[in-house]
Amino acid sequence: MSNTFFADNSAVDLTELPVTRKMECKICWQVYDPAQGDEVWQIPPGTPFTQLPSHWSCPQCGAAKQDFLVIDD
Ligand SMILES: [Zn+2]
Repeated sequence: MSNTFFADNSAVDLTELPVTRKMECKICWQVYDPAQGDEVWQIPPGTPFTQLPSHWSCPQCGAAKQDFLVIDD
């Protein structure tokens, strides 16, 4: 994932993100792709990041949802 770059998400309102927007963990670079969901948390494909349960965290390192950054692609 070296060829991606990030928006400054300090002022991002997640509720205004496109539902297909991928998010990336700022700690381990794990990507959450709404089109794929999350097998670890049994999140079905098509689930937007904003619809993830509040207890969801990075399946790789355990970081909280707020530690994810918008991938600006
Ligand atoms: Zn992580």
